[in-house]
Amino acid sequence: MSDLLDAVDDLTLPRNVKVQTDSGYTWASEDALLVQLTEAVASGLGSPSGGSAAPWARNLLNTDALHAAGMITSQIVDWCRLVKAPTTRNATIDLRSWYVAFVATQGESLDTFYTRKLRKWAGEIRGMLNPPKMIQMTSACPECRETFYPNEDGDPVPYPIVVQYWANSASVWEGAKASCRACGHEWQGQWELRGLRHSVDDMDAESVNL
Ligand SMILES: [Zn+2]
Repeated sequence: MSDLLDAVDDLTLPRNVKVQTDSGYTWASEDALLVQLTEAVASGLGSPSGGSAAPWARNLLNTDALHAAGMITSQIVDWCRLVKAPTTRNATIDLRSWYVAFVATQGESLDTFYTRKLRKWAGEIRGMLNPPKMIQMTSACPECRETFYPNEDGDPVPYPIVVQYWANSASVWEGAKASCRACGHEWQGQWELRGLRHSVDDMDAESVNL
């Protein structure tokens, strides 16, 4: 599967998710991200038929969802026009039509721009629907070697590196990233995050050798 198709699927297909219940875990089907975004907008606007919307959708900051949904829908329509794909103003349907037409005309060789954009949207939607889990690393940053970073008041606090991930994603690496609050360096995705782990281990080994 190509990265581009993977990114399109992530936004447009339902997925199976592990759900915690009183008696352990069970699997449930979750709507596609773009569908969830659309539902969140509908429920945020006070639609009385919002029965399918989960509580998080009603608690959502609806202006953010509305802005994101509008921006994504019109961007996809623009992309469709570029490759002469039909549009319906339904972002889920339009994105899949765009993908078929795009691959037919351009192939997949130049797709990094679109793949990055789609991944960014998926991350933004997940962030709105389901805030990421955050963990702090207790090591120094391997880029800047800082062990402290300034908080909002400018006071130094320990553990500059924070890792965020989505517990509900198909893979824990999906959309995961780490960032250093001292120097701003970011590590995204599985390989960069594994690289970060190795750098931290190397650094710990170095300090033992000193
Ligand atoms: Zn740093």
